Amino acid sequence: ANVLLTGGSGFIAAHILEQLLAKGHKVVTTVRSEDKAAKIREAYPAQAASGDLTVAIVPDIAQPDAFDEVVRTPGLEVVLHTASPFHFKWKDPKKELVDPAVIGTTSILRAIARSAPSVRRVVVTSSFAAILDEAHIWDPSTTYSESSWNPVTLADIHNSPATAYRASKTLAERAAWEFVKDPANGAKFDLVTVNPPMVFGPVVHYLSSLESINTSNERFLDCLRGKWREEIPSTGPAIIWIDVRDVALAHIKAGLEIPEAGGKRLFTVSGLFSNSELAAVIRKNFPEYAELLPTADTKGGELPPEEGRFRYDNSATTKLLGIDWIGFEKSVVDTVKSLKKAGA
Ligand code: NDP
Repeated sequence: ANVLLTGGSGFIAAHILEQLLAKGHKVVTTVRSEDKAAKIREAYPAQAASGDLTVAIVPDIAQPDAFDEVVRTPGLEVVLHTASPFHFKWKDPKKELVDPAVIGTTSILRAIARSAPSVRRVVVTSSFAAILDEAHIWDPSTTYSESSWNPVTLADIHNSPATAYRASKTLAERAAWEFVKDPANGAKFDLVTVNPPMVFGPVVHYLSSLESINTSNERFLDCLRGKWREEIPSTGPAIIWIDVRDVALAHIKAGLEIPEAGGKRLFTVSGLFSNSELAAVIRKNFPEYAELLPTADTKGGELPPEEGRFRYDNSATTKLLGIDWIGFEKSVVDTVKSLKKAGA
């Protein structure tokens, strides 16, 4: 099929691109700058030459007309919208986080509704951030599922950087569902959202340096560089995870292979994890880092006890997608291998 993939320079999108091209789909992907476009073309010279891969520049997704031109690519059938800020290097959370997330989402949906009548489905990369409720994260009587919604509002974005990020994802996803629900918008496509928790896995996108590692893999670098030797840091509230290759596969199945996915939120989860388990897997598999790693006795980063953590139920998603989720040890090993290759 003909697919538009936004944010092609990203950690998750790079895997989506790799899998799409491997399956023989024709892809237009967007990035912010020509140097990022060149790196992607260099990674797929044959497809770039044949026209199966086109890289388009969309400099600022927070502009309401950002996607007007690229959606006019003839014959587009499916759009996968992954581009959204996931980092904490901002000063103004409204301008630099919420606006690109929300306006980016509404502007692409509006552009498709107006100018791309051949598009039948749009998949938006949302997040567990749009599912969880910060007030109930440590509450064992709470079960998060595909139907759970984060109650966060724009007024909360100054509470903490994490809350601001969660708000950006929640408001963007809410805006997407509202857009397709309102007949005045004239959407002829249906919508799917993919809502992953912490995404780990090998890096296949271009990294200018290890310092530019994507946010959800940062903890691997910290561990490998000796920052966890004295004490393993807290795992944080997001104690569920998924491998990036499964997130990519979920986008492709939802967008191109499973018609019944239309209208659904997909909660892609492999399982629970903790930083202490992560360190143990690295220690077991990579003795060459032993000196820098915490030992079996190093404290910190344990999973909270059962009575102090939320439950989740993503059985509807697992059943619909039919994916046998990659397990933690394989994911961690493959992540570390890729970071070693990148110079860690
Ligand atoms: P990356 O930071 O690697 O990718 C983010 C992508 O979005 C990049 O292509 C980036 O472009 C682009 N982007 C960010 N801000 C802007 C902006 N203001 N204008 C244009 N493009 C922008 O992170 P991930 O791959 O992890 O994230 C991809 C998606 O997955 C995001 O929507 C994120 O919220 C979501 N997600 C990620 C999770 C994770 O644990 N990794 C968990 C749940 C959801 P550039 O390369 O130029 O910076």
